[in-house]
Amino acid sequence: MSDAYEALTAKLAAADPEIERLIEAEGRRESEKIRLIASENYVSQAVMEATGSILTNKYSEGYAGKRYYEGQQFIDPVEQLAIDRAKALFGAEHANVQPYSGSPANLAVYMAFLNPGDKVLGMGLPAGGHLTHGSKVSATGKWFDAVAYGVRRDTGRIDLDEVAEIARRERPKLIICGGTAIPRTVDFAGFAAIAEEVGAVLMADIAHIAGLVAGGAHPTPVGHADVVTTTTHKTLRGPRGAMILTTEEHAKAIDKAVFPGLQGGPHNHTTAAIAVALREAATEAFKEYAAQIVKNAKALAAGLTARGFDLVSGGTDNHLILADLTSKDIGGKPAAKALDAAGIELNFNSVPFDTRKPFDPSGLRIGTSSVTTRGMTEGDMDLIAGWIDRAVAAAKDGKDAELESIAGEIREHTKAFPIPGWQA
Ligand SMILES: *Cc1c(COP(=O)(O)O)cnc(C)c1O
Repeated sequence: MSDAYEALTAKLAAADPEIERLIEAEGRRESEKIRLIASENYVSQAVMEATGSILTNKYSEGYAGKRYYEGQQFIDPVEQLAIDRAKALFGAEHANVQPYSGSPANLAVYMAFLNPGDKVLGMGLPAGGHLTHGSKVSATGKWFDAVAYGVRRDTGRIDLDEVAEIARRERPKLIICGGTAIPRTVDFAGFAAIAEEVGAVLMADIAHIAGLVAGGAHPTPVGHADVVTTTTHKTLRGPRGAMILTTEEHAKAIDKAVFPGLQGGPHNHTTAAIAVALREAATEAFKEYAAQIVKNAKALAAGLTARGFDLVSGGTDNHLILADLTSKDIGGKPAAKALDAAGIELNFNSVPFDTRKPFDPSGLRIGTSSVTTRGMTEGDMDLIAGWIDRAVAAAKDGKDAELESIAGEIREHTKAFPIPGWQA
């Protein structure tokens, strides 16, 4: 704890000590652990301050210059800055920065282009797609006729010939590329050719990789996809929120789908924090950050492979690694729980063609965006691979003392990597 933390919570500590203590405990946890959840990050204190600002007090249904309530003198320019920065950073013709999060942003795209019952083709959940890409348990799978593509068993990668074959057979109105557990580069141009051939709208969901795209460490879907959705809080390192990028042609349909189609008042404090994060993402330092995320993921993948871990697709092109623990003779869930006890936080995950159930699957999903924000580099990744290996072995043998001893080593190691809003 420090001045940074106390400045952000001074009044809260007096007004609601129960909540303040829990926030403080979470701060310590985020500081003392190695956080490898691929969808998470650490935002800057500047982003945190915008998120915690008085803009949360204001209602502003509508868009800049066309609001339903008065008093938008300062909200309009805030939202316009976020839009202008998003357009400039991604080279897009139009940006909507109002979606509350990634899932509603995706639903807004369905709303803009489809009627209930229309056909959509997305990546299946077990292969690495997101719930909102047509999963049966999601509104997108219940209200629309969803079909799925996957990855090849032998390569662990998307097979565009298979995608094209399904698209020709099923004639979907919307095709979705991108996902939540894809360790490899997405071929946006290839998807665009398929969408064009079958007359479908192409949506690229870059929730996970937006920071890599912004920083030039992954090819951009802009110019290939009709519409691009993204969260703002994963590799992009902004507040929890989302954006939709599109062309002039589809701008009106997207804006109408977000408001009044799905949402009421935008979260102005979040919009301001998105603007701050986009300004940060346009810097040279962020380019280096994006490149380092990928270098770290490759180093961690190499360290794990050297220790006998099987990685889906054999490695990674981005921030994300999927490890299949079948050869380690332990399930993903007990391994993830043991790793958490050892100070390494990640999530259990299905692997393609998993023979185990989704709530007790075979894999682990590992991401390097958070540790890279802390300033860790390739040498640290080899240490982490070593800790993961020891913890997984200890979990198999029921050696709790070994997990505790790893957690102690990690507490020591992380002291050299302060996190924003806590120590720095
Ligand atoms: C995280 C994610 C989402 C959903 O974002 P939420 O903010 O959690 O609703 C959508 N699509 C993909 C690919 C994601 O990874």
